[in-house]
Amino acid sequence: MPAPYTHCVDPVILRYYYKSLLPTWLPARFVKAMLDTLVKRAVRRGGSRSLILPYLEICITPRCNLKCRHCANFMQLYDQAEDYPADTVLNAFSKFLDGIDYLAKLRILGGEPLLHKGLAEIVDFCGKHRKIGRIIVVSNGSLTPDGDIIRALRNAGAQVHISNYERTRKRREEVTEVLRTNGIHVLFTKNQQWKDYGRGEHFAYSPDKVRAVFKKCPIHCKTLVGEEFHICPRSAHGTILGFIHKREEDYLNVHALSTKELTRRIIRLYNTDHVEACYHCNDKAHALLLPPGEQ
Ligand code: SF4
Ligand code: SF4
Repeated sequence: MPAPYTHCVDPVILRYYYKSLLPTWLPARFVKAMLDTLVKRAVRRGGSRSLILPYLEICITPRCNLKCRHCANFMQLYDQAEDYPADTVLNAFSKFLDGIDYLAKLRILGGEPLLHKGLAEIVDFCGKHRKIGRIIVVSNGSLTPDGDIIRALRNAGAQVHISNYERTRKRREEVTEVLRTNGIHVLFTKNQQWKDYGRGEHFAYSPDKVRAVFKKCPIHCKTLVGEEFHICPRSAHGTILGFIHKREEDYLNVHALSTKELTRRIIRLYNTDHVEACYHCNDKAHALLLPPGEQ
């Protein structure tokens, strides 16, 4: 089971968190000395008492212009996908952020987020929010961002992570060139290989086995989809699509809870030992490798 996230002990994340609390006009030398002291003190006492999350992804649309046969997030199964309106995304995300103290890394994804007309507005919001550290937009590399999105990415200091699919190689090089020319940092996954978690079929695991599947799973990509927070995108989209049973304890609706209750439920979900969706993942996935982005 992953370590509880109530007490962050990662010095790098703690540094970013404390830095976000300090006024920006302080002299750099003073900031460095203060951060050294605060981080050392937090690590010595077993971590920060603030709720610092290392990672969250927000899915702003299930629409995608590719239909990867083995998309782990089940996007290929949406027949009539629609974008989540920017105000729905931002209201839910804003409420979620009220329930925590800091989010170290945010990934904005889809489907394909560049299809969303409100992407620039969403990136603008994230770039100005003091509780958010690093911002990454994940794209399949087949679309060139327009001027408004480029401006928003640059202002927010956001990075773009482009998937390494053979099919989009030429286009990806053009898109990368545009982004780099505009001063935006581009990331790639080298030697990317996909694991075959299955198409969502149910496996009859015992209670112990399903916990073992969860424990071994490298995904655990905490996800906000619409107004719902899930600990895994397969849980979010599998329940939306209706082939995974939706259990109360596997997700939360950010608008249904007070801020205090939201914090309590986020911590509980971060410390779960499995979700219903784990019954729909192949425990042999690590040995079943697939070419990325196959259509
Ligand atoms: S490009 Fe990404 S989101 Fe779209 S279908 Fe492929 S894996 Fe899924
Ligand atoms: S459903 Fe469970 S086992 Fe499957 S990817 Fe998500 S966390 Fe991992």
